[in-house]
Amino acid sequence: RRAVFAALKDELPITRDGHRITVMVNAGLRDDVAALDVTGADGIGLFRTEFQFLVSATLPARAQQLRLYRDVLDAAGTRPVIFRTVDIGGDKALPYLNREDEEEENPAMGWRALRLALDRGGLMKVQARALLEAAAGRTLSVMFPMVSEPWEFEEARALFEAQREWMRARGKILPSEIRYGAMLEVPALAEMLDVLLPRLDFLSIGTNDLTQFLFAADRAHPKLAERYDWLSPAILRFLARVEAPVRAAGKPLAVCGEMGGRPLEAMALIGLGIERLSITPAAVGPIKAMVRSLDRAALQAHMATLLTTPPRDMRTTLTAWAADNGV
Ligand code: PEP
Ligand code: MG
Repeated sequence: RRAVFAALKDELPITRDGHRITVMVNAGLRDDVAALDVTGADGIGLFRTEFQFLVSATLPARAQQLRLYRDVLDAAGTRPVIFRTVDIGGDKALPYLNREDEEEENPAMGWRALRLALDRGGLMKVQARALLEAAAGRTLSVMFPMVSEPWEFEEARALFEAQREWMRARGKILPSEIRYGAMLEVPALAEMLDVLLPRLDFLSIGTNDLTQFLFAADRAHPKLAERYDWLSPAILRFLARVEAPVRAAGKPLAVCGEMGGRPLEAMALIGLGIERLSITPAAVGPIKAMVRSLDRAALQAHMATLLTTPPRDMRTTLTAWAADNGV
């Protein structure tokens, strides 16, 4: 099968009924970018910038950040890269940022990601400058993690825009275009899409965090790992309710959680109308194979019925549909 997937490198993820799915990879280190050539993926849908912070003993300086971001953009070439601003704090605590006496009871729901970055504006300013400089003369796509309310997205974008003005005033070369996106990981944000959507350029659903918050189930707890299924009707219905307004607003919508890297789960996402996946590089071959065997229109009709009257076991039902339909 490995040989089969390798052979798919140059094949496009197009469904049997002619629908192009965008398959990107998740990355976090400089060397991860090589996965683009190995897999033939469409770009990097999630670059986890906190990795550089996690492997560093001190706060990475702007020059260090700049070098990494520029290397990543150079290696990606014409393929798009979406940089996620740091998702640190909580369980990814850094000794040089988080004090031991500030240890948290619920780190996943704690002072992390954009919450920390907005409170520590200096840290995000440095990252914004590094990203803006790295993307001089080209497109910069940046997205913010753990946005819980639209104002947080607004504030983060304003911080980037202020840095852009600062650079413009000093005659620096700016990105040719800046695209701002939010991650949907906190359920509350789904209730505010009408307010949020006009302000952003794209949305990416982080199903790892979203699932733990929807089910109130720690994503790292071994006793809960098998308990809630990504294919449960609650999750699929939730995603469907997000997909509709995002589509209506004409904004690109991706899923960048691990869910999208599993063929059956990815099939269900496509059945909900999601057309962009960002996944672990090893999953690109299997996902492309699934996409190429799929009749999207037939699946979407089936999914609509399943969401209206959910079967007792969605996984078994979808597995059977896949088998019956040559997926
Ligand atoms: C997610 O939460 O689904 C996600 C992609 O972000 P991370 O796994 O880095 O929290
Ligand atoms: Mg997350």
